[in-house]
Amino acid sequence: MSTILLAGGAGYIGSHTALELLNAGYDVIVVDNYANSSPEAIHRVERLTGNNIALYEADVKDTEALSRIFANHSIDAVIHFAGLKAVGESVQKPIMYYRNNIDTTLALLEVMNSYNVKNIIFSSSATVYGEENKVPFAETMPRGACTNPYGWTKSMMEQIFEDAAKADDKLSVVLLRYFNPIGSHESGMIGEDPQGIPNNLMPYVTQVAVGKRECLTIFGKDYPTPDGTCRRDYIHVVDLAKGHVKAIDYILAQDKCCEIFNLGTGVPYSVTEIVETFERVNNIKVNHVYGPRRAGDLAELYANADKAFNILGWKTEKTLEDMCRDSWNWQKNNPNGYRN
Ligand code: NAD
Ligand code: UDP
Repeated sequence: MSTILLAGGAGYIGSHTALELLNAGYDVIVVDNYANSSPEAIHRVERLTGNNIALYEADVKDTEALSRIFANHSIDAVIHFAGLKAVGESVQKPIMYYRNNIDTTLALLEVMNSYNVKNIIFSSSATVYGEENKVPFAETMPRGACTNPYGWTKSMMEQIFEDAAKADDKLSVVLLRYFNPIGSHESGMIGEDPQGIPNNLMPYVTQVAVGKRECLTIFGKDYPTPDGTCRRDYIHVVDLAKGHVKAIDYILAQDKCCEIFNLGTGVPYSVTEIVETFERVNNIKVNHVYGPRRAGDLAELYANADKAFNILGWKTEKTLEDMCRDSWNWQKNNPNGYRN
């Protein structure tokens, strides 16, 4: 049985991935400093699966703490989720974002090298396609100019991984470019738990629906899209988590690789479609108004999802209705997230 270390594994995507890896028969270790998460997420994954997870509270920038974990376990692969991800905050605090996101990456690569661990999967983002490329985004396109420091950290970290893989003929790297993850596990026991005012659309929608926020502002109605609102490639987080299982199966089967995969559905939906679908499937109103555009937003962003299907044998299975239903199920069962 192979053992996978999830750095930042207590977070939204990490906790769902932990669950799917356990279901697929992998052993899971988690290291997280809870900068944006809670150990409760991992305890719930343990309850859902009946498995134990070795859980370490540590900063992934801390090479000594990481070394102790690598010394305790025989690790076959690492998935690097540990990062700060709020776009607006990254504009206000760029140094903090570069320090955290880049240093976690360097520390992991250094300690992996010391312990001869040669497989790493990285949580990248569709944001690295930048403004110049045309949708649908394909992995063959060059990285573009990002619109904020968060995006640049992802772009720079991709470069770091590619350079490290070039220099080490044993190091295998898979860069996963996520599109817009929403939804939660169908149990409603784990989900996205943003601190403070949500930046992202779906948590804002669910918090309006549950009465924690007054009204959703839809940013812009004058984009060159069918209904004038931005279109994104929303992907159910359980599909995304299963994409990581396929990527782990793949990387463990290679002698050596350095590959990029989009994880998206390939189908864009507009903000208005999200709100309307959420209202319909959950039979609940979401107060909303149309406001000005948000700086840095692109009109449309969606994946060409062919490569992940052709090489990993992965494609999404959940519908937009599933995403809206499961997002609401999590929010209404956990109105205060993990702080119940
Ligand atoms: P999240 O904030 O829920 O998870 C990130 C986890 O990393 C958190 O548990 C946080 O506490 C931990 N962390 C951050 N810095 C750390 C450090 N220095 N040491 C230890 N732990 C640390 O976010 P998520 O949505 O699960 O995203 C996971 C990864 O995927 C992130 O790298 C994010 O940038 C990337 N990503 C997310 C999205 C999205 O929309 N959610 C899209 C594209 C890429
Ligand atoms: N959005 C919105 N109101 C909000 C939050 C987001 O209209 O309160 C829109 C945003 O303009 C974008 C889409 O929803 O078109 C998805 O935004 P999100 O921040 O979730 O993800 P992004 O695509 O920016 O990474």
